[in-house]
Amino acid sequence: MTIEQLIAALRSRKISSTEITKAYLDRIEEFDSEIHSYITVDSKGALEAAHIADERLKKGEARSLEGVPMGIKDIFVTEGLKTTAGSKILHNWIPAYEGTPTRKLREAGAVFLGKLNMDEFAMGSSTENSYFGPSRNPWDTDRIPGGSSGGSAAAVAARLCAGTLGTDTGGSIRQPASVCGIVGIKPTYGRVSRYGVIAFASSLDQVGPMTRSVRDAAILLRCIAGHDPMDSTSIPKPVPDYLAAIKPDLKGMKIGVPKEYFIEGTQPETAEAVKAAIGVLKNLGAEIDDISLPHTEYAIATYYIIAPAEASSNLARYDGVKYGYRKDEGDGLIELYKASRSEGFGDEVQRRIMIGTYVLSAGYYDAYYRKAMQARTLIRRDFERAFEKVDAIVTPTSPTTAFKIGERTADPLQMYLSDIFTVPCNLAGLPGMSVPCGFDNAGLPIGLQILAPALAEETIFHVSGAYESATDWHLRQPPL
Ligand code: GLN
Repeated sequence: MTIEQLIAALRSRKISSTEITKAYLDRIEEFDSEIHSYITVDSKGALEAAHIADERLKKGEARSLEGVPMGIKDIFVTEGLKTTAGSKILHNWIPAYEGTPTRKLREAGAVFLGKLNMDEFAMGSSTENSYFGPSRNPWDTDRIPGGSSGGSAAAVAARLCAGTLGTDTGGSIRQPASVCGIVGIKPTYGRVSRYGVIAFASSLDQVGPMTRSVRDAAILLRCIAGHDPMDSTSIPKPVPDYLAAIKPDLKGMKIGVPKEYFIEGTQPETAEAVKAAIGVLKNLGAEIDDISLPHTEYAIATYYIIAPAEASSNLARYDGVKYGYRKDEGDGLIELYKASRSEGFGDEVQRRIMIGTYVLSAGYYDAYYRKAMQARTLIRRDFERAFEKVDAIVTPTSPTTAFKIGERTADPLQMYLSDIFTVPCNLAGLPGMSVPCGFDNAGLPIGLQILAPALAEETIFHVSGAYESATDWHLRQPPL
């Protein structure tokens, strides 16, 4: 059942939250050794929350997500529940407080089954950078489920939770959603509070739902979005009813197709599936226009200066003193820092800290960081110009379907290119969604990316909802 169907079944008391929670826990027990989507399973906490939900359902006091079993990416700070960010440096950290997005879900009655695997500090595109080992793609367990929210995408695709929250700094919701055949939306920067979300690159990070249907994503986004006094970058605007934005056709909608997103190196089946999807949008009444986003080619280079720069600053707090992993052989403070950080952080995180420190250092700041900020402005302006002419933009989400585990680990640049189509949206602060739009010859899912102007999530739901109703890609299930 989708979240929407589950809510209806729980309300009509066809099923209890305890029954469905137990069913999910059994399924996790049976299949998660294969998929490895969970870092922590909280059976006790989940059954307690399900019991409370059942009491409220009985009394007719159900809240919007009462009794719905969810998984949560392990980057969200959850009170009393271990939160690792996929890192050794936090491998045993039990937070004393709850972040805002998960607090909102809990206050809506959601049941948390546990915490989902991810690339360490959300740096990666495959979950292979997790200290706890990689997750596997349910469509082919020799392949990656994408990243960094790979555990989240795999869990939703494998029906190991009804839905989940991910985070997206350069594609970490959309790319795993694409390669696992599910729906994932990165909202406008500031639409969802980042309070209690372990920071990677603060000017790019954004929280969003990962679900089996567009309607489920609309339900979850409405619950978590909104202003939060604990996050000064959250936007003080009312949250619309995203479900109401979904309409059956696209009459009057102008959709742009940027030529820079159909480039050499893209898997032919991916390009074909996206072109076929554009045909469906046209049949639904949309006007399709060719557009150009001329600075797209600088997006990856720009991102890999800005994101590591911010990460190097955000990760300075893990010093082996305040909390987290500590290695102290009694050789003084500097040695304690060095040993704790060298052993606590994995290779990719250390690589990013070094790049970030380098581009921010006095002699290089102008050449790298300032230049990157200028390029970021040009990328943002490309979108502003395009959105003077069109309401939404569609592209492939990822240049290829899921690659094999181990295939790109030796070559970080090759790995970074996985996000070539998702990164520009973060640099511009815009909302973007990936929806299933086909399968390649090996039976692996392909995703369609839909982008819109800032705070135009309703346009994204309108387009994706109409597309989903006209197709059945999202109904296919992996052969577990
Ligand atoms: N894969 C990109 C990176 O490694 C994006 C990750 C993300 O969005 N968190 O930085």
